[in-house]
Order: sequence, then structure tokens, then C-alpha cells
Amino acid sequence: MKQLVVIGGGVVGVTTAWALVEAGHRVTLVERAPELATGASRANGGQLSYRYVSPLADAGVPLKALGWLLDPGGPLRFKLDGTAAQWRWLAAFLAHCRGPVNRRTTERLLELGAFSQQCFGELMRQTALDAIALRTPGKLVVYRKPDEFARVAARTQGGPERALTRDECLAIEPSLGDGGGAWLAGGIFTAGEAVADCHALSVQLGERLAAHPHFQGRLQASATGFVVEGDRVVALRTDQGELSADGIVLAAGLQSAALAELVGLRLPLYPLKGYSLSAPINGVHRPPTVSVTDFERKTLYARIGDQLRVAAMVDLVGEDTRIDPQRLAALQRNVRETFPKAADYDHAVPWAGLRPATPSGAPMLGATPLRGLWLNVGHGALGFTFSFGSARIVADLVSGKPSPIALDGLQLRAA
Ligand SMILES: Cc1cc2nc3c(=O)[nH]c(=O)nc-3n(C[C@H](O)[C@H](O)[C@H](O)COP(=O)(O)OP(=O)(O)OC[C@H]3O[C@@H](n4cnc5c(N)ncnc54)[C@H](O)[C@@H]3O)c2cc1C
Repeated sequence: MKQLVVIGGGVVGVTTAWALVEAGHRVTLVERAPELATGASRANGGQLSYRYVSPLADAGVPLKALGWLLDPGGPLRFKLDGTAAQWRWLAAFLAHCRGPVNRRTTERLLELGAFSQQCFGELMRQTALDAIALRTPGKLVVYRKPDEFARVAARTQGGPERALTRDECLAIEPSLGDGGGAWLAGGIFTAGEAVADCHALSVQLGERLAAHPHFQGRLQASATGFVVEGDRVVALRTDQGELSADGIVLAAGLQSAALAELVGLRLPLYPLKGYSLSAPINGVHRPPTVSVTDFERKTLYARIGDQLRVAAMVDLVGEDTRIDPQRLAALQRNVRETFPKAADYDHAVPWAGLRPATPSGAPMLGATPLRGLWLNVGHGALGFTFSFGSARIVADLVSGKPSPIALDGLQLRAA
């Protein structure tokens, strides 16, 4: 049994702490906020998207991005943030925008997604989390451009994905026709994809952890540095004192980069800012039943309990969680046009969060050059989906076991 510290109480930190206590270790979780899951895990899209994992970096994306940037309401926005980190990240991102690189990363992420789905099932059997609004309605990715749809449909043969014509999409999800539906070219449906409330899951799992004899939670405790002896990390410094540990798992989302920098490690993380709306649903509304992704507008729709959660936008504007009224208005216009009857948008609660993203779109899991310091960071747009599998992989590695899946492409590369 090791004494371990996990830094960060988002969905990645909480699932990591759970996997570690289940592996038989003593765990202290350190979270700087007064509550769990107040960062990127707060009001995300809620998609457990195990198969729709292709990273943003792909051939053709730089060209498409230019078009998106010219549209003020478009899915992408870029503003110089005055840091070298932004340029470094962009240069690395562009280097990943190649078909073969994208395919390799996608393969790895599909494996991680499948493993995560399995781990999620096991977690649910162990914990019976019951207040997380879990549904498994399947996912429908809808296309507006017939040529884009035809291209993707041609690739979709065999496997769990099914290409659906416009009429077949409307049969599966009639609410797509509520705005007239003239824009709809077709869609790809994947059964088995789920949605849940990431914040509620993190909080409820935190409650299960709090009852565990080998767990200690420290809220309102900020990690401030590491005590290093030789090539080994032996303790975490916090604003509440030092915590000696046999191992420390860095799972502090975006802030992991600044913490790693304290021991000379450069993590290629950049915030991809996104927005969400949580709009109440009552008897008069017709929300989509399946979870819907609007491919061209990069907008996700999922019913989570009695709310419609809409998540969208990728803004490269630095570490800024303020809600930009123009972006919010653009999102409101978009959802009212696409699903006009789905929810009460007048009372929608807006939120902005920062996806902790690597240039490749793949997380960084496992060892660092410093013994005793482990990573579970960089989950970008799919941190909820991947958290269960990533947590188990890191717990196995910390316990001295081999990783249950191949890790190439999922580790920190020497800078
Ligand atoms: C708009 C939007 C929509 C999204 N939709 C989806 C989706 O549908 N499906 C999906 O799978 N993913 C989605 N994501 C991505 C997902 O939300 C993130 O990948 C995930 O929440 C990252 O979790 P995390 O625990 O790494 O980070 P966070 O949730 O940010 O947690 C990090 C924690 O570390 C704490 N911390 C930081 N520094 C310190 C310190 N020094 N000391 C102590 N604590 C510290 C922070 O307070 C925070 O609580 C979405 C993200 C956004 C923004």
C-alpha cells in the first residue's frame, strides 16, 4: 500500500483517486476550490462519447479554420494572448494536422474510449451512482453539407456506426425537423453512446470517496510546489503545509502545466475555451432524445435530467473564463434556429470552461522523468469520456503493473 496524493478535484482527479483507493492505496486528494468539479468539469457537454473521438487536428482543418475565423458566430475564434505558449501550441497543433497522424491518434483514442467505457461500467457496478442523469440514447452526428456527409457516409461501412439519410435522421430524432430541417443533409448514428452529468458524477463519487477509510479529501488546499530529493518527488507543498507521499498524480487540468513547470517539466497544454447553455425543459418543450452533434457548427445537444445541455465553440483566447456576450448571442441564435422547441432558452444558464488540450488531442498519462510524479492530464474535449479509463491506467502504472492498453501517443514526450 502506497501513500499517494492526487492534485485536482475535477472529474479526472476524482476518478483517479477512486481507482487508486480501489487498487489498495491510501490517497489524499488536494483541491484548491471549496467544492469538487468547479473547473472544466462543471457544465460540459455531458457526452460519454466513446466512439466519436477523432481529434480536432486533422488534414484540412487549417483551411477550414480560416473560414471559421472569418465568421464572428463561427465555431472557432482566435485572439493573440501574448504568450509564447500559444505559439508553441499552435505550431505543434499544425504539425498534427495530417491525415496519417490523425488516424494514428484516433486509433489510440478509440482504444482508450472502449477501455473507458468498460471501466465506467465497472465503476457503476461498484458504486451504483444514482444521481448522475445517465442515459444511453446513442449519438447522432448530423451534417449540413451534402458533400461532407457523402464523404463520411462512404467511410462508414460495418462497425457500430450507421449512415442515415435525412429522412432516417428525422425518424430517429423528429425534433430535428422543428426548425424546418431544410439544412439537414444526413447523419451518422452510433448506438451505445451515453450522456450524464459530469459535475454530479464527480460530486457523488467524491461522497463515496469521503466514506472510504483510505481516503482523505483536502478542499481549499492549493498545491504550490514539490519537494524533490535527487531524481524523486517526495512530498507536495500546499498552502496548508507539506504532504509526504510515495507518489503524486498531477490531475489539475489546465493548471497542471504551471505546476509541472515548477519542476522543469513543460506540458504542452493550452486552454480551448468552450461555452455551454443549460436550458430548462418543461411539458411544452420537445428536446432531442438522442444526443446530437451538429458537425459543421461543432455544437452538441444532450438532455441531462430536466435540462437541455448545449455545448459549443473552440476559442483560443488564453486562460479567460469570462463569458463574451457576442459569443453567447451567437450560440443562442444557433440553438434557437436548430432546435427551436427543445427548451426554455430565455432561462438558459450560460457557462464557459477551458478544455485542457494537447496539440494532438490525446491525454498524457503515466510517468514523468521525475520518479514519483505521475500525469493524468490533457484530456481536452473528451475528459469526461476518457476519465474512467485514464484513471485506471494511471492507477495500474502507479501500482507497478503494466498499462492495460498500449500507451504510445498517450505519454509525455521529451520536449
Ligand atoms: C464547453 C465544454 C464542453 C465539453 N464537453 C465534453 C463532453 O461532452 N464530453 C467529454 O468527455 N468532455 C467534454 N469536455 C471536456 C471535459 O470537460 C474536460 O476534459 C474535463 O472536465 C477535464 O477534467 P480535469 O479534471 O482534467 O480538469 P478540471 O475539471 O478543470 O479540474 C482540475 C481541478 O484542479 C484544480 N486545481 C488546479 N490547480 C490546483 C492547485 N494548484 N491545487 C489544487 N487544485 C488545483 C482545479 O480547481 C480544478 O478543480 C467539455 C469541455 C468544455 C469546456
